[in-house]
Amino acid sequence: AAKAAGRNGFSFFTPSLQVEAQRRQQVGNSLRHALRDNHFEAYYQPIIALDSGRAVKAEALLRWRHPEQGVLLPGDFIAVAEEIGMIGDIGNLVFQQTLELLEAWPGGQVSINISPRQFISGDCRHWLQEIAARQLPAGCLAVEITEGLLLDERPLVVNTLLGFHQAGVEVSIDDFGTGYSAMSYLKKFNIDYLKIDRSFIAGLARDNTDHAIAEAVIAMAHKLGMRVIAEGVETEAQRQLLLEAGCDYAQGYLFARPMPRQDFIDFIRSSQCRVAAGGND
Ligand code: C2E
Ligand code: MG
Ligand code: MG
Ligand code: MG
Repeated sequence: AAKAAGRNGFSFFTPSLQVEAQRRQQVGNSLRHALRDNHFEAYYQPIIALDSGRAVKAEALLRWRHPEQGVLLPGDFIAVAEEIGMIGDIGNLVFQQTLELLEAWPGGQVSINISPRQFISGDCRHWLQEIAARQLPAGCLAVEITEGLLLDERPLVVNTLLGFHQAGVEVSIDDFGTGYSAMSYLKKFNIDYLKIDRSFIAGLARDNTDHAIAEAVIAMAHKLGMRVIAEGVETEAQRQLLLEAGCDYAQGYLFARPMPRQDFIDFIRSSQCRVAAGGND
């Protein structure tokens, strides 16, 4: 009986691994086609200064316009892109599209997510030169990295991060609170922003623990000279609590969803008109 079960277990397991491998290969092939056919597009989500209510920054969020399946989210394909060594090319595409936006948005700042593998491959170090070549200020760019990367002490990681900082590119810790939270890295690197993960914001108005965590993160960040961005803000109650807690910036569906570049430019222009017209409450 034990033998049969073992055999069953084995035969049950193998096909699913095969199916998974096949699926990855298929996704990999269509990723290569998508890159060739320009089906990747960066969307932009406004980041709002909570005190003024104005959209002063944005986050670039990658989308794949799939001819049959519609718009696909990064969760569906980033991991495969990393595995097959395509994340560098895709990341450069996001950067190039973002340069176009920045040229149309003087004074704006866009932050770009860099996955650990992309960061370690070093594919983004030439970004500094390209920004300078377009006569854009380095501060128009911010990069979002995760806590795990900061535990990596290899010179490439440390030097790239310090290089960004020295040039004036701002650095955010994404999904803060969900990773290792070793926090000693906060002393070693010059981090500009902590982004409080959406999972804490979701419970803000009804869960005392989430509220306490958000307040503590904001207080700590400010004492260490960092600013805080709350992600996934969906309700007016959350906005109000964050404002009271002294949070600096927020992004989320309450304000706007990620949108294509031209829609974002229109969004910025119309919100500037509202401010110019005196509607600043
Ligand atoms: P992230 O950097 O933490 O991005 C925030 C995610 O929350 C985005 O999901 C955004 O669309 C979503 N979001 C924003 N506001 C709300 C809200 O109010 N409610 C809810 N429920 N969700 C909200 P998205 O676009 O699916 O991206 C998922 C992750 O994929 C990102 O998480 C980031 O880690 C990664 N990613 C996105 N673009 C890129 C890229 O160009 N390069 C790399 N390496 N990773 C990327
Ligand atoms: Mg991010
Ligand atoms: Mg995030
Ligand atoms: Mg997140």
